[in-house]
Amino acid sequence: MTHHTQGFATRAIHNAYDPLQNDGALTPPLHLTSTFAFETAEAGGEMFAGERVGHIYSRISNPTLDLLERRIADLEGAEAGLALSSGMGAITATLWTLLSPGDEVIVDKTLYGCTFAFMRHGLAKWGVTITHVDMTDAENLRGAISSKTRVVYFETPANPNMRLVDIRAVAAIAHEAGAQVLVDNTYATPYLTRPVELGADIVLHSATKYLGGHGDLVAGLVVGRQQQIDEIRMVGMKDMTGAIMAPFNAMLILRGLKTLALRMERHCTSATIVADWLEAHPEIGTVYFPGLESFPQHNLALRQMTKPGAMIAFELKGGMQAGKDMMNRLQLIGRAVSLGDAESLIQHPASMTHSTYTAQERAEHGISDGLIRLSVGLEDVSDILADLEQSLPHPVQHAAE
Ligand SMILES: *Cc1c(COP(=O)(O)O)cnc(C)c1O
Repeated sequence: MTHHTQGFATRAIHNAYDPLQNDGALTPPLHLTSTFAFETAEAGGEMFAGERVGHIYSRISNPTLDLLERRIADLEGAEAGLALSSGMGAITATLWTLLSPGDEVIVDKTLYGCTFAFMRHGLAKWGVTITHVDMTDAENLRGAISSKTRVVYFETPANPNMRLVDIRAVAAIAHEAGAQVLVDNTYATPYLTRPVELGADIVLHSATKYLGGHGDLVAGLVVGRQQQIDEIRMVGMKDMTGAIMAPFNAMLILRGLKTLALRMERHCTSATIVADWLEAHPEIGTVYFPGLESFPQHNLALRQMTKPGAMIAFELKGGMQAGKDMMNRLQLIGRAVSLGDAESLIQHPASMTHSTYTAQERAEHGISDGLIRLSVGLEDVSDILADLEQSLPHPVQHAAE
């Protein structure tokens, strides 16, 4: 066969699996086993010494996870992958492997809440210094980075206002200073952005979101260079956290990946229609969506993302009460955290995820009282729009017909 590089969707369905090596089974087998038998005492000994390839115990590796790890690494353009119990399991196992007391991590100003808490309260307890920098301007990093900086960490797009970080620009500055670049690619998925190709060293995912895609599991993935992934597996995952993925979840994510390209296309098309509609609505102020021309980083989105994603944030002019009222009137769109599911999901940070913040703290994090976050799902977009329409106040009273 002549050399031909297969496309993303094809590789997401076929890569690294041959049915003929597996009794002809079209679908990869689910290896529900905690341990693996050694051929001989010597073979077992060689595996423990790292001189023989093979599975020992399912807190270290498992064939079903192995396939998922190969697929995600391939889709991200990385050498190797690792499957963990949750996005937070992936983040903690990775950082605990890379960092020692006295090291510094520079993080973007805007982070997923639990990641923020892990850095601020978890890593700080272990003598790691956390410095916050607004990385929407990569030059800010240049002023903050030093020889103590081991890791530069960010999300793009980032919650709640979809701010983007220029991966190539940040990686150049970080590498010059000898730091590694870690990117949480949960919102974009490798279908929209491949950070490794832009210079990132390690990419992390909450596979709970788009990769699984069906809201039926919690899981995490990490990709990077083989040697570093091996280290995270044997240190951060096996010994420090024990946060390995369950084989059944790996099987569900393998199924999710088969439709990732298809789903992302639909998610992005619908989100673009919804964002345009929201921007034209009189009760709505700013709409934060990388696909809008009004989005401050629209040009970076065009350069770094193949499509704009399907997460939208918007400001209700009516503030806190308008947010609660809208939440309570919705009939189709689910009032729930998480994202990337077939179901459209919506949440109101001021009364939900960030209700424990004071109004001033919310303001500092760019979370106004009327801010709403929407994950545009796979329903008919006309039904999503109809639900949004009936949930918003009707300021213009039309005369009866
Ligand atoms: C959900 C999420 C996480 C955490 O992942 P879990 O699977 O819930 O542990 C991390 N980063 C981002 C951007 C997320 O959305």
